[in-house]
Amino acid sequence: MRNLIAMIVCCVVVATASANDPPAATHPLAASVAAKAASTEPAKAAPASIKPSLAPASAASQRAKEDEAEAELSAKIAARLAVMRANQAARVAAAAKARKAADARPKPVPGGAAAAAPALPRHSEHWSYDGETGPANWGKINADWAKCGTGTRQSPIDLRDGMRVDLEQIVFAYQPTGFNVVDNGHTVQVAVGMGNFITVQNRSYELVQFHFHRPSEERINGKGTEMVVHLVHKDSEGRLAVVAVLLERGAQNSMIQAVWNNLPLEKNDTVTASVALDPNQILPAKRDYFTFMGSLTTPPCSEGVLWLVMKQPMQASPAQMALFSRLYPLNARPTQPGGGRVIKESN
Ligand SMILES: [Zn+2]
Repeated sequence: MRNLIAMIVCCVVVATASANDPPAATHPLAASVAAKAASTEPAKAAPASIKPSLAPASAASQRAKEDEAEAELSAKIAARLAVMRANQAARVAAAAKARKAADARPKPVPGGAAAAAPALPRHSEHWSYDGETGPANWGKINADWAKCGTGTRQSPIDLRDGMRVDLEQIVFAYQPTGFNVVDNGHTVQVAVGMGNFITVQNRSYELVQFHFHRPSEERINGKGTEMVVHLVHKDSEGRLAVVAVLLERGAQNSMIQAVWNNLPLEKNDTVTASVALDPNQILPAKRDYFTFMGSLTTPPCSEGVLWLVMKQPMQASPAQMALFSRLYPLNARPTQPGGGRVIKESN
């Protein structure tokens, strides 16, 4: 019911902000729902957080049952996550050991014997967060992904010992926007309509897509959070700036709910939403941040990416966290060496 109201509220936003958003406005479902919303909610859109007061008396016991099931699921997920993390750490250590051993061996003469044949094909497109095709091997899977193994400006990193300076405020110019959702096999990714910008260091970057990782890839003084959202922006010259917002357990987030409501049923299918979402809803009130130069955290691990990690986390509800973890219990690259990089942070 709450979701329905949130959807209707969103539709009112679409209906009023449809001038620069033709795909959503011309969608027949959007038009009919918006019309319905307009007839039942003539006043200004109420905040999505207002709860309806017509819950039946049995709802409390039902809710308690749901909470119990949710807690059980969370515990199971946490246990599985711990095992996967341990496995991942063991694999990273083993790969580092193997690399050291390989480095110690004499190098084959160029053009010499075929002894230098790599163990894995150098052109595969398949990668994962686990096993043979996991993070420790990304650089060896495909020649175009070499930076994943040899780069010195890789992300994510553990943010510590930042230089505290008066960092300029990032100017966020976000607005309610049409969107579509794809489960690309590595994460849930949301492509947004045009017209959402950030300005930082005298450069404007447009929001292209955002996606999620679990647990957070970023760490602050060694500490991560349950999830993170990466908002990926591009400027007119193709330079990338990624805003990371850490997510903790707490209140439901309405932007995330809008995404979850439009999840595709199959991997690589795209759902075009008939409502709008407002990227402002994922931004924390305090806009202090860390910044450093890094890379994409997935193959091809390209460097030259400006990272902007917000210090204040946002919240998502346990149910929202549990939903994502059913799809992706672990889709985070381990932290990479800082390599003497300058990290600046808001004072
Ligand atoms: Zn990411």
